[in-house]
Amino acid sequence: MTTITNDQFFDPTVETMPRAELEKLQEARILQLVPYVYERSPLVRDLWEQHGVTPDDIKSLADFKAKVPFMDKDTIRAYRDKHNDPYGGLACVSAPHLRGVGFTSGTTGDPTPLPRPEDNAVVNGLKRELWQIGVRANDKFAYMLFSFRDGLNADRWMDCGMIPIAVQHSPLEIPYLVKISREHRPKALFMISTPIIMGLDAYQKKSGDDLREAFSSIQGVVFGGEPMSPNLRKIVEGWGLEIFELSSLGDLATAMECKAHDGMHTWEDIALIEHLDPNDNIEMPDGSRGELVVTALTDDVAPFIRYRTDDLISFTRQPCTCGRTHGRMKPVGRKGDEMLIGGRSVLPIDIFPFIGDFPETRSGLFQMIRPQREMDALRLRVGFDPDELHDDEAALCERISSKLQSELDIPISVELMSNEALLKLGPPNKIPRVSKS
Ligand SMILES: [Zn+2]
Repeated sequence: MTTITNDQFFDPTVETMPRAELEKLQEARILQLVPYVYERSPLVRDLWEQHGVTPDDIKSLADFKAKVPFMDKDTIRAYRDKHNDPYGGLACVSAPHLRGVGFTSGTTGDPTPLPRPEDNAVVNGLKRELWQIGVRANDKFAYMLFSFRDGLNADRWMDCGMIPIAVQHSPLEIPYLVKISREHRPKALFMISTPIIMGLDAYQKKSGDDLREAFSSIQGVVFGGEPMSPNLRKIVEGWGLEIFELSSLGDLATAMECKAHDGMHTWEDIALIEHLDPNDNIEMPDGSRGELVVTALTDDVAPFIRYRTDDLISFTRQPCTCGRTHGRMKPVGRKGDEMLIGGRSVLPIDIFPFIGDFPETRSGLFQMIRPQREMDALRLRVGFDPDELHDDEAALCERISSKLQSELDIPISVELMSNEALLKLGPPNKIPRVSKS
């Protein structure tokens, strides 16, 4: 383990807390939370009554994990619609404790409201992340949120002295981003996405502006929204920037890479992290894939309680070389996309690294066919460019199958389709990576 210096962490006591202490802290927070939410959150009370659970049944962290029923997006939406409650029965208090209402991005349906307390768990986690990138009091950072649905929260940064400069998350704002980078010399850029990178790349090509120079003060750039493709990574690294990938803990907080770049730290003093069998209440082994289930430990306004996120992660609590003791996750996909082929978990993320290996399939288009979760063999539709074909389709099919079979060690049957025909199966410019038929 590397030596921990005083200045390395924003909150060294919490960030490097021994795991036994961290679990004691979680248990104390859970035992305080249980009677609090049961008393106040109509959704929690409703759900627990249906399952015959009361706060008296929960005397330890182990009881909580064994007995408390799960909730998910559908539970919250159903409560919201039935009771005409915009907070889906989650809100425990109202003003003056309720300090803002954010919304989820709505990737898989209509956005879920996120009532926020003054002590905002998202910002509390982000302070630790920006600090480890190198942002200190009186340093500026470009604050480029995906959307302002979660509010600017600029005042929440004041207590640590970091100075956010707000920039709209839009390719149209790129000249402004470059201008403020030169004028204010921010230490970090939080955060960029695929459209912003494409926009910056186009801006550089068109204007000939030197982005490496413009961004020379930036010690780290945060990327989120989806897994980063090797092409995008190359573009951003070309500007001399270190990339930190970020993901979400079911929208209650964030998880981000540290300088070891071996998984994203999940703040376990802020969120109780469970890593479960996607169809059960069984803890998955360390290092394997499981569903991320979260409980908000520090939110007194509208805490999620055993919220099943639908996100599959690989997760470990092994110590990180950076010195932090909190677990690390790697997002691998959505629960509804996972297939078990002869008992082995397969997701689109497993196919991505190999599919572009042939000149005919360089566009990386493919679709997993998933009539049900468990199958004996993987059926894969692969897009190809007929102009690149240098033997025949049967030979290409054979090359792809044997490559994937040897990499993934599962039976695979490949169906070829022209890129053009495969693209027509999905909405414009998007290919559904998983299809029922
Ligand atoms: Zn680390």
